[in-house]
Amino acid sequence: MNPRWESLARELDTRRAQHLYRTRRINDGPQGPELKIDGKSVLAFCSNDYLGLANYPPVIAALNEGARLYGAGSGAAHLVSGHSSAHHALEEELAAFTGRQRALLFSTGYMANTGTIAALAGRGDAVFQDRLNHASLIDGGLLSGARLQRYTHGHIGAIEPQLAHSSAKRKLIVSDGVFSMDGDLAPLPQLVACAEKHAAWLMLDDAHGLGVLGAGGRGCIEHFSLNAATVPILVGTLGKAFGTFGAFVAGDEVMIEYLIQSARSYIYTTAMPPAIAHATRTSLRLAQHEHWRREHLQELIARFRHGAQQLDLPLMDSFTPIQPLLVGDTQRAVELSAALYERGILISAIRPPTVPEGSARLRITFTAAHSGQQVDRLLSVLAEVL
Ligand SMILES: *Cc1c(COP(=O)(O)O)cnc(C)c1O
Repeated sequence: MNPRWESLARELDTRRAQHLYRTRRINDGPQGPELKIDGKSVLAFCSNDYLGLANYPPVIAALNEGARLYGAGSGAAHLVSGHSSAHHALEEELAAFTGRQRALLFSTGYMANTGTIAALAGRGDAVFQDRLNHASLIDGGLLSGARLQRYTHGHIGAIEPQLAHSSAKRKLIVSDGVFSMDGDLAPLPQLVACAEKHAAWLMLDDAHGLGVLGAGGRGCIEHFSLNAATVPILVGTLGKAFGTFGAFVAGDEVMIEYLIQSARSYIYTTAMPPAIAHATRTSLRLAQHEHWRREHLQELIARFRHGAQQLDLPLMDSFTPIQPLLVGDTQRAVELSAALYERGILISAIRPPTVPEGSARLRITFTAAHSGQQVDRLLSVLAEVL
């Protein structure tokens, strides 16, 4: 090894010793319940493809058609010549789906969050964030230069005094809708009331709620019977329930126009391939109209929770497709994940810093592509291993 990298190598060794070293498995085929990993067939419970659309033939056909109509790449940023009619149509459909004046496509959720927060807040402002918010939201807060104030997870009693005492020019409250590693929901009605009382702006990242929650798949806002007026800034991702790739921000005309002029992660990057946007128009339609996907998912979740309760497994307080089993110790979580893998079940161990110290877990997720029998198989292997 070149001596130049010695300090890096030492840090990697420390991570290995702490069971925090991360590696990639190579999946040779499409996303789905059954994967071929390193030549081995496994039953997977760790994707975010909640509606089972990532490998659904009509979506794949639309991607092919999109490539035929628009080619392989967009060739430029949206503000140059990369904004195609496929992007534009998808934005209009996302605006209608979320009941807002406008929607703006970003290449990823990470970029939507960092770009939006850094555009809407700056020096002299304050951004209030749940401690368990997704890394992209936290990073957006740091990038903005505003004062970043984090409050205890889901605790309205913690955010209220922060807002009351804040002398910031502009106050922005930011929260995940469904927390990605816990599966629980933000106390959205209380956040809305709090934002109104303190004249703060409220931004919701519903990456894991859209497509999944609410009778029409409109996510946390539909689940809590809220509306666009009370949650003025909505972020959604397209790589999870919608099965493709990308993200969007939806809201009022003025806010979206402001983002187009100012969000650096929107301006200074190549537009996503239009074929992806074209395919997403199909998955958005399916996500809205194929109610059976959400219903089947709820049946699988109920089946799992019932079985897990019988086995006395350490379930967390979640009714969403994210059903983590809390393990605590990092090494034990890694060992359990390995033991499951040996038995043909793929579930990743989620460790610090993704989750707080001492709260390592097995993050189990379900998709509409799973069957009841597959859930039963998972339960019987969990019983054996735990
Ligand atoms: C996955 C996720 C993102 C990032 O979205 P990508 O499109 O994968 O970059 C943002 N926020 C939350 C809550 C997420 O779970």
